[in-house]
Amino acid sequence: MLFEEVAYYYEKLESVSSRLAMIDIMAEALGKADKKEMRPLIYMTQGLLGPPFEGIQMGIAEKFAQQAIASATGFTKEEVAANAKKTGDLGNTAEELTRKTKLKRMSSKKHNVLSVYETLLKIASTSGQGSQEAKIRSAVALLTAASPLEARYLIRLALGKLRLGAGDATILEALSKMSTGERSARAELENAYNICSDLGKVGEVLAESGIKGVERIKVSLFNPIRPALAERLPTANEILEKMHGKCAVESKYDGLRAQVHLDKGKKKVEIFSRNLEKLTPMLPEIAKAALSEVRAERAIIEGEAIAYNEETGEFRPFQETIQRKRKHGIDELSVSMPLHLFAFDLMFLDGEDYLGKPYHERRAKLESLIKGGKTILPSGRVIVDKPKELDKYFEEQIADGLEGIVAKELNSPYVAGARKFSWIKLKRSYRGELSDTVDLVIVGYYLGRGARAEFQFGGLLAAVYNNKKDDFETVTRIGTGFSEEQMRNFKKILDKIKKPGKPARVDSIVTPDFWVEPTYVVTVRADEITKSPMHTCGRDGGDTGYALRFPRIVSDGVREDKSPDDATTTKEIIEMYGMQKRIKVEDK
Ligand code: AMP
Repeated sequence: MLFEEVAYYYEKLESVSSRLAMIDIMAEALGKADKKEMRPLIYMTQGLLGPPFEGIQMGIAEKFAQQAIASATGFTKEEVAANAKKTGDLGNTAEELTRKTKLKRMSSKKHNVLSVYETLLKIASTSGQGSQEAKIRSAVALLTAASPLEARYLIRLALGKLRLGAGDATILEALSKMSTGERSARAELENAYNICSDLGKVGEVLAESGIKGVERIKVSLFNPIRPALAERLPTANEILEKMHGKCAVESKYDGLRAQVHLDKGKKKVEIFSRNLEKLTPMLPEIAKAALSEVRAERAIIEGEAIAYNEETGEFRPFQETIQRKRKHGIDELSVSMPLHLFAFDLMFLDGEDYLGKPYHERRAKLESLIKGGKTILPSGRVIVDKPKELDKYFEEQIADGLEGIVAKELNSPYVAGARKFSWIKLKRSYRGELSDTVDLVIVGYYLGRGARAEFQFGGLLAAVYNNKKDDFETVTRIGTGFSEEQMRNFKKILDKIKKPGKPARVDSIVTPDFWVEPTYVVTVRADEITKSPMHTCGRDGGDTGYALRFPRIVSDGVREDKSPDDATTTKEIIEMYGMQKRIKVEDK
């Protein structure tokens, strides 16, 4: 497949905002790729060069991209910089200046999907001395053989700023449409994706062996599994009813979710976060303990890493655990404030897939594997069949400084990537407040007025994720509770992702001072969910949606462990609205 065709489809994708249209265009584009091209084409369409968990950085800076455009078109660096200022987008600059090139086109060679992908990968992987020059040379080679439209997308890809606005769900439906003509095979494709977290792999297997092949995709070591998520219910009664009268109740730790992949023979450990980024360098004591404490050759276990004082039995707040998410000083921290892993699940053991086994069996095996460990401990838990027992355990957890409990159905499998009632969380309910925090995506921000003018930041427009429509629906404007440092920080990071108009997947009827590409998630506490004509959350074609009342940020800045698609969903907000009404009735 020629890259020219890819660029043509990317332009078409950019010009539509309806999700169905996006799916059709993408299905047609994917249908043009042959088996070998499928994986690279999918990664590139995601704006990546590999599955996100590999963390391949695109690796060319704006300055060097400008230099490459200058060399490839004959314009001076100053002219390129001036044009970039005008367009606000180096991709558009590359396009315009390629069209007006001052140089004779030397090459009649055309780019194809594989050649572009390989060159971009080379640019990304070149490091060390002289690497910038080598990267620029490769980028110039790409640009000199490119049409203006190709140049637009090559530069955006090389900068890691393709942002076509297609989420994973849209790509999965496009794959379904491509292979079956319908969107209905999404469920099978999504299942496979939840197990391997690699859309490129799913697409490749689909191209090679059809849906049947996709259904055979199994758990494999060092390919993270998309984590199971918990539903909410407001009372012990309702939880037990949902669990058919009996369930396990585990302590809910407020730390970092960690999925540990271990291969003793290779002395290799990899730890993935909730949004599947590699956490291994940040949790050296847990990686080490995985090799010495877990009685298995090869395994995938999951738990919550948290700062915990063994001597006093005291759990430290999330703010202390999260300090690990930094680049320097980890070794010192791992001594002064060592983390423990409270393990709660087992997904793979010595070649055997555990996802389909019932919870009680996974848990029993997990306990036998980590028995006697010091750093890796089983999460606290009891089995209950009476609401009173559940409440008692819950109160004990709160008294111990924990967040609450997660109830687990004894016979259910591990449901990768989905929020199901086989796990139900119950958190402390503060008087007059929602019993749970929500995770919202920032889609815009406001300028500061009055005393805030100096920060040029006056608040956020925040949205939930609608996983049916694969878009972001606004639910609140957050205007209070920011520290000065937070305001400066938000302004700095959001300026880098500003968009001239409403971004592709954002559904909003209010307009902030600046739109931003949905990238960052913040955790928010609010007093109440109300019906509102201002926000699109749950509007579904009607006049009123749902909104948060008195929202304030409780995360320390943005949640680096969550991506936009991990935000609280529209469905959850509607469910929480229903629960809130039930609690109010009970209170009376
Ligand atoms: P939330 O982030 O509030 O939706 O709660 C779900 C999160 O709780 C999971 O993603 C885990 O990181 C965390 N968690 C803490 N303890 C447990 C546990 N025992 N079982 C499952 N998840 C837990």
